[in-house]
Amino acid sequence: MKTFNTNRLISIDDLTKNDIDILYATTKEFLKVLARPVKKVPALKDLTIANLFFEDSTRTRISFELAQKRLSADIINFSSGNSSVKKGETLNDTIQNLIKMKIDMIVVRHKVSGTAHFVSKKTGIPVINAGDGTNEHPTQALLDLFTLWERGLKSEEINLALIGDIQHSRVAGSSEKLWQKLNIRYKKFGPNTVARRFSPGDRGSGDLDNFNVLYNLRIQKERQEKELIPSVQEYHNSFGIRFEDLKPHQLVMHPGPINRGVEIDSQTADSTNSIILDQVEMGVALRMAVIYLLGQNKKGI
Ligand code: ASP
Repeated sequence: MKTFNTNRLISIDDLTKNDIDILYATTKEFLKVLARPVKKVPALKDLTIANLFFEDSTRTRISFELAQKRLSADIINFSSGNSSVKKGETLNDTIQNLIKMKIDMIVVRHKVSGTAHFVSKKTGIPVINAGDGTNEHPTQALLDLFTLWERGLKSEEINLALIGDIQHSRVAGSSEKLWQKLNIRYKKFGPNTVARRFSPGDRGSGDLDNFNVLYNLRIQKERQEKELIPSVQEYHNSFGIRFEDLKPHQLVMHPGPINRGVEIDSQTADSTNSIILDQVEMGVALRMAVIYLLGQNKKGI
């Protein structure tokens, strides 16, 4: 039987195609669990997982926590706002303390790119990157593709437009690696100031008509050193998804949080073209699969 070969998920680079197959097959199994009246399995009842969120999060934090609870793991939640980080403790000291308390796995989010890698190197236990700066957010990329497959689109049928602040998006960082690994067709659109390093195309009217998936990214104002778009209204006029331009077959995605009226109008966000909430739903099953597979490796089963 082929095995899941990695003991961490810092980057899409950690996964072979075989790992991705195993991960998606396991996600399907957990979707079945989540459809039952009792949405819980005892699989990881002997593991303790620390969720270290040094940066704000709503969906990702709750999704990881739910996934862990549904696998019966014990959980420690840490956010930098109410920790000794405020008193000047270094990241390394914080994690060394956790290791001494016999934590089995770490989920980490941080505004600095490379933090998850650092934590992994310093601890030697399974680490999952829940978003590091502008670098990567692998579980988001994985759950997004799973959502498209669950919608019945095969890999070779996907023709995706990636639109927005690609340069500062860690979701784009992981997604591009995943799509390239699996030969998913995509093209990038965005203002030159926030999509420059990827030489995207300008978006003119009708340019998106031939794409069956429109993947929108948020303007990452917190990661821009200066204003890189003239105004949100201008951005919306040039790159925002407007319901009147949508084709019936087009699926609209977004990693959240959405800014209504900026990258997407409300009518689109609330339309049946939008699968944004499906992404959220699939996220729990996908994260259960990641945690379960890393947990099994950790237990040496
Ligand atoms: N929630 C995603 C992230 O943490 C996307 C975003 O914030 O725009 O990267």
